[in-house]
Amino acid sequence: MDNDNRRASRRTEVLSKHLFPHPLTTTALLSTSNCLSYSPPELSSSNPVSFDTSRMRALLDGHNLDDRDWLFGLIVQSPLFNRQERGGRVFVSVDYNHTMEQQREETMRRIGYLLDRGVFRGWLTGDGPQEELRKLALHEVVSMYDHSLAVKIGVHIFLWGGAVKFLGTKRHHDKWLRATENYELKGCFAMTELGHGSNVRGVETVTTYDSRTGEFVINTPCESAQKYWIGGAANHATHTIVFSQLYINGGNQGVHAFICPIRDSSGNVCPNVRIAECGHKIGLNGVDNGRIWFDNVRIPRENLLNSVADVSPRGEYLSSIKNVDQRFAAFLAPLTSGRVTIASSAVYISKIGLSIAIRYALTRRAFSMTPNGPEILLLDYPSHQRRLLPLLAKIYAMSFAAIELKMMYVNRTPESNKAIHIVSSAYKATFTWNNMRTLQECREACGGQGVKSENRIGPFKGEFDVHSTFEGDNNVLMQQISKALLGEFIVCQTKKKPFRGLGLEHMNNPAPVIPSQLTSSILMSREFQLDLFHLRERDLLRRFAAEVSQYQTQGESKESAFNLSYQVAEDLGRAFSERAILKTFIEVESKVPAGSLKDVLGLLRSLYALISVDEDAAFLRYGYLSTENAAAVRKEVPKLCTELRPHAFALVSSFGIPDAFLSPIAFDWVGSNAWSSAQH
Ligand SMILES: Cc1cc2nc3c(=O)[nH]c(=O)nc-3n(C[C@H](O)[C@H](O)[C@H](O)COP(=O)(O)OP(=O)(O)OC[C@H]3O[C@@H](n4cnc5c(N)ncnc54)[C@H](O)[C@@H]3O)c2cc1C
Repeated sequence: MDNDNRRASRRTEVLSKHLFPHPLTTTALLSTSNCLSYSPPELSSSNPVSFDTSRMRALLDGHNLDDRDWLFGLIVQSPLFNRQERGGRVFVSVDYNHTMEQQREETMRRIGYLLDRGVFRGWLTGDGPQEELRKLALHEVVSMYDHSLAVKIGVHIFLWGGAVKFLGTKRHHDKWLRATENYELKGCFAMTELGHGSNVRGVETVTTYDSRTGEFVINTPCESAQKYWIGGAANHATHTIVFSQLYINGGNQGVHAFICPIRDSSGNVCPNVRIAECGHKIGLNGVDNGRIWFDNVRIPRENLLNSVADVSPRGEYLSSIKNVDQRFAAFLAPLTSGRVTIASSAVYISKIGLSIAIRYALTRRAFSMTPNGPEILLLDYPSHQRRLLPLLAKIYAMSFAAIELKMMYVNRTPESNKAIHIVSSAYKATFTWNNMRTLQECREACGGQGVKSENRIGPFKGEFDVHSTFEGDNNVLMQQISKALLGEFIVCQTKKKPFRGLGLEHMNNPAPVIPSQLTSSILMSREFQLDLFHLRERDLLRRFAAEVSQYQTQGESKESAFNLSYQVAEDLGRAFSERAILKTFIEVESKVPAGSLKDVLGLLRSLYALISVDEDAAFLRYGYLSTENAAAVRKEVPKLCTELRPHAFALVSSFGIPDAFLSPIAFDWVGSNAWSSAQH
């Protein structure tokens, strides 16, 4: 029989078995020796653990490992977190069968449980880097359980509480911070309106001052000014921060932030406030997003958050920041912590997706190479490696970068605020886009099992999609980064001073020279990788400057010139972000002593660098690489995947994610789908 005939006859045999199955009358038939059985990846010699996974975990988490494990434990212990037993293991995850209203109430009960156990202790009243790092670590763990829970807490503590802390002064701190931490009130943050989201400066809510009564009067003058998407507003919040134009004596002083009660302690909506639902969403249904209208609501003068500007009892406007742009920027400060937490949590969600997909790919087989030969493990297909392992390398790179961002944030100074704004914007956009891409690939890599909600990856796509929109739309953030870099460029050019900060010091050196022929050893070298990333960034920055200037010469305004140069701006934002990530990776790697851990980090760093090059057409478009060299990069990627394949299991084990936070297909998926499991 030739090959084609043999294949056809096998196919007929399989099809006839499928169409005319033998009736399974006894359980004995279920245990024939030909049946698939689950073989744990940790027992396979193809998955040797050649490095210390706990040391790797320490590098990846970076801080507060014990606090993280404590909170993982609290969640797994409690029936409030929807514990489900599958195949003899316990898993925790949200029950998406529940209605929107049920999910919202469950979110509140879970918050109550965490509150009682001291999880939020010091989140607003604590000070210093250690307190902040604990808060960030615990919030990351919460987001790994459920995005709604993380957002509901985030709105209350980071946005409402953060606004009180950063925009308020002592009188606000004394009155609200501890009360917020203890959930004596529930806060929300009303910035976005139906008519204005990204363009916060355009909000139409109007606040005036009445010096006769010493009150501010907040009003929603038109439908487009209704506050929209406000997390916590639809059901639970008692207070909100309102972002509004402030008019004093008929003059507009720009956007300011006020504290306004919206419900009494019994949950009744306050007089002159109207609240409506935003409705069912593609995810995050455990958060009650709502819309708010203010009908000339009166609040005391003291409710203006006055660290940036104040109004005297007689109605005089007072601000130490005279520049309107700087004043506005100061009002956006609470959003920075939001961007930091979103960036970091996106990395942790990708870790869950990759852990599940890679563990499954190490136990799931499909097709055999020979007629009666064993079927092949998914992760032994070069194509499957190529789909998942570069994403794994990226998540390693982004984990290190996220830690660096958090360290910058908790050690912030007035001088470093600008850099934090730029880096947090870049990483928020890059990591959240990467998360969505990773989840989609992981979902597909698990085939039909990826579609089951209990396997987490599918629902995560809906749950975390909004990451790219809130707390700064990703596209808008990327444009801001390029504008900020251009600002640095212009200052350095006109004042003839060297670049300092944001990792741009390489701009002071001559342009790196890329070897005409790239060998494997050059491609793997960190010096070459960094040179290539530097070359791209410096050239794109110059191109962006030249293009904007050219449009201006043609009579376009500065803003219009920026808008017209959006393509180079996008390329530049990406180049900045990827270079910053690579640089951090190299720094982390350089501190690890020689040995197996360092070796595997070297492979991951190279794969991160080369896949980033392979995926960005700018390297060819602008000639940073010849076509031959671009082909050499592409050829190196599968080689690196093959080298990393034996480490895949250890690399996902190093994430330190408890089994209960993964899903049934990450373990014995035959057992967890057995008839006996279906009887529970
Ligand atoms: C689930 C959820 C929860 C939220 N929670 C809150 C909350 O608690 N409090 C709150 O105040 N807000 C909240 N938001 C609102 C969120 O911050 C806004 O949706 C976000 O800022 C984007 O605004 P927008 O929806 O009006 O989109 P727009 O700003 O209208 O943007 C629409 C599109 O236009 C593009 N675009 C905008 N400007 C430009 C430009 N200059 N150049 C090129 N393209 C541009 C954007 O990239 C985007 O693709 C929430 C939103 C959601 C979905």
